[in-house]
Amino acid sequence: AKTLDLERILHRQGFGTRKMCRILIVNDAVTVNGEPCDDPDAKFALDNSLHFTVEGEPWQYREHSYLMMHKPAHYECTHKTQFHPTIYTLLPSPLVERGVQCIGRLDEDTTGLILLSDDGQFIHKVSSPKHHVPKVYEVTCKHALSTADMQHLLAGVQLIDEDETIAALAATQITENVIHLTLAEGKYHQVKRMIAATGNRVEALKRIKIGQLALPETLAVGEWRWLTDEDLIAVQ
Ligand code: URA
Repeated sequence: AKTLDLERILHRQGFGTRKMCRILIVNDAVTVNGEPCDDPDAKFALDNSLHFTVEGEPWQYREHSYLMMHKPAHYECTHKTQFHPTIYTLLPSPLVERGVQCIGRLDEDTTGLILLSDDGQFIHKVSSPKHHVPKVYEVTCKHALSTADMQHLLAGVQLIDEDETIAALAATQITENVIHLTLAEGKYHQVKRMIAATGNRVEALKRIKIGQLALPETLAVGEWRWLTDEDLIAVQ
C-alpha cells in the first residue's frame, strides 16, 4: 500500500490545514494504531487497517467516505443555511471538511434515507438518470386513495410543466391514506406533484429505500452510519 506522512494523512482525512494537523500531532493529540505519535513526518501505509484517534476521537483511515443518514424533518440538504439547519450539521466536521455531500436532495420536510459521499464517480453513478436507481417513498396523503388513484399513478399522471406523463414503477397501498411509491426518476418535488395530480395532497413523506438498500430500522432519526460493502452493492 502507498505510504504517507501523518500530517498529510490527517489533512486529507479532514482535520484541517496541514499546519493545524502538524500542531495537533506535536501537541500529543494523536495516536496511531493505539500508540501515541508526535512525529508529523512519521509514515504509515494507507489502508483501512490504519486506525487513529484525534483528541480522543477514534477514526479509521478511508480513502473515500460513503455513508447513509436518516434525515430528520426541518433540515435542509444544502451547504448554506437559509431557514433551517443543514443536514451537514449532523455529521462530524472532518467528514464535511473532506467534501462529503448528499446524493440527490430531499425536501426540507421530507425524512428518511439519504446517501452521502466524497467520491465523485459514485455520486454520479447513483444520481445519474441513466442508471435508474429506483427509490421507494412512504407517502402519507391527506385523503384516502382509491383503486383508481393507484391505477392512475401506475399508468402515468400529467405534471404541471412536464410534457410527458410520468408513472410510478410500483405503487402499493399500505393503509387508506398511506402508500409506498417507487420512482425511477428524481424530478423536483416529484412525489408531491404526482400526488397533487390525483387531486390529493402529501402530508408526510419518507424515503425508505434506494436501489436495494432499505433504511435500517436501527438507524434513528438524525443518525448516520458508514455504508458497508454490501450496502454499496445494493445501491448501484
Ligand atoms: N419527492 C418530493 O416531492 N420530495 C422529496 O423530498 C423527494 C421526492
